[in-house]
Parts: sequence; structure tokens; C-alpha cells
Amino acid sequence: MKCACGRESVYYQRYANRWLCEDCFKKDVEKRVRKVLGREVIRNNVKIGVGISGGKDSLVMTYILKKFYDSIPNSEIICFFVDEGIKGFRDVAKKYVVEFCKEFDIDLRIISFKEEINYTMDELVEKNYLKHLNIGKPCSFCGVVRRYLLNKYAFLNNCTYLAIGHNLDDFCQTILMNYIEGNVKNIIQFGKDVSSSTNFVKRIKPLKLIPEEEVILYAKLNNLKYQKEPCPYSHLSYRYKIKKIIEMLEEDKPGVRFGILRGYESLLKLIEYREGNLKKCKICGSLCSGELCKVCSWLEILKGL
Ligand SMILES: [Zn+2]
Ligand SMILES: [Zn+2]
Repeated sequence: MKCACGRESVYYQRYANRWLCEDCFKKDVEKRVRKVLGREVIRNNVKIGVGISGGKDSLVMTYILKKFYDSIPNSEIICFFVDEGIKGFRDVAKKYVVEFCKEFDIDLRIISFKEEINYTMDELVEKNYLKHLNIGKPCSFCGVVRRYLLNKYAFLNNCTYLAIGHNLDDFCQTILMNYIEGNVKNIIQFGKDVSSSTNFVKRIKPLKLIPEEEVILYAKLNNLKYQKEPCPYSHLSYRYKIKKIIEMLEEDKPGVRFGILRGYESLLKLIEYREGNLKKCKICGSLCSGELCKVCSWLEILKGL
């Protein structure tokens, strides 16, 4: 099949019922990233911190950001890689990230769980320590602590924004999970990405409108090498089940993922966001309802074990 421009196509965009050639496909992806970020983000005098994991999403995101900012004066990109200490998984990812940042000449900082919290993820699971924190699944701990560390380092490095490589599928998973669990607070916080905390770096999610299969194709067409194996703990996660459900829905009705996102964003507009009576965490300074924020209280318990 041919693309509308006349060239041979490489991809059928099912939800839009069109065939795209390599060039038009890449342009389409980049156009949507540009649309999500807008002029407020793609400008000069900006320092973008990037959470880079070595997976397809963060590498594609960093590649596109680098492309955008290369021609913009006084702009800077710095990558943060969190090494949780998961043998046979994160050490492999690290190689991809180090090579990628070298090839594209991007600053890279490596942050390790071992140094930051004194335990690797493997040790926490092996010793069964997460049960002391009332955490059933490793991902519930790992994801939150990673976010905490990324923000901490983006803040320490004076970043204007922190870019997170969530694609459209990830968005839909998070939205549905929060709905199903009735987690109203998370529903609001996830979408607004704001906080009045003074040490919170505003997050941006450049791949919000890019479905997972397009991230994979974009990586392939640009010869980006990334880690393909999923995290060994991820099959334990609830997210994985939701992912399968969304894929089933999309198969049945192409475009349903954009529908989930649109519905969620219209809902957000109707919600007035109030942080309520929050205090500053005594350790890290982030806003929370008690004396310590969730992560700091976990880390305190771990110290005592
Ligand atoms: Zn074309
Ligand atoms: Zn704290």
C-alpha cells in the first residue's frame, strides 16, 4: 500500500485508517510530541531533566527531545538513570543507556538504590522487607521510589522540567487502574502534574499521544537499541493485567485508547484541584499530610530493619 505522499508505506495506522511511509510516520510522531509540549516547553532557556530507563519509551523520548532542542540556544538536556539493582535486568539496561548518551552526546547521571536507600530491589525482595511497609508487590515500592529520586535529582540539578517516558498505553493503564481502585486523589494528581511544593519539578510526558506500537516502530526506524525484556518483577503487577485488557479493547475498537485519555482529560477540567492542609515532610521537604511523606516514612522503617 502507498502513503498519501505516494511513497511505499511501512505502517498501517489502524485508528486513523491510513497507511504511512517511513518519513510521514516519523513526522507524524514528532508532530504529536511537539503538540503535547507546546511552546511553553520547546523554547530557549530551559533545562530538561529526563528519566531514562533503557527501555524503548525513554530512549525514543530522549531522541526526539534531543532533536528538538539541538537547534535551540541555551537549552540543555540531562538524563537521570535509576539503577534499582535488579540483576540481569537493570545492568543490561544501563549498557544501552550509557551507549545511547555517548552516541548522542547527552549528559548522564546514574542514581543507585543501593547508595540512596541502602538496599537493592533484589535485596528488598529476597529479604521480604516490603511486607514491613505493607507493600505486596515490588512495583508499588519501586515505581514510587524511582519517581521520588528522579524528582530529587532533577531539582538538585535545577531542571525546569522532568520528562517521563509514558506512552499512550501507559497513560490508559494508569487512568483505568486509578478508576478501578477508586483512587480519586491519584486520578487528580496524575493528570495535573502540579504541586505547590517548592522542590517539585514539573513533569512533562512527551509521548502521551503515541501508542506503544508506534514507539516500537519509531525506535526501529531510527535504529535505537533498547532493552526489550520486561522487568522480572513486572508480571506480578496489576498494571500488566490492565495492559492486556486495554489491548483487547483496542483490537475490538481502534482508537479506544485516545477515547480513554480524552474522557479522562475532560473529567479533569471539571475538578477543582485543592491540596488541602498539607505540611512539609521533615526529611525531604515535599508536601504531605503527616510529618513524613510516604517515601521518607518507608525509608525510615527500612533503616530500622
Ligand atoms: Zn508519506
Ligand atoms: Zn519526604
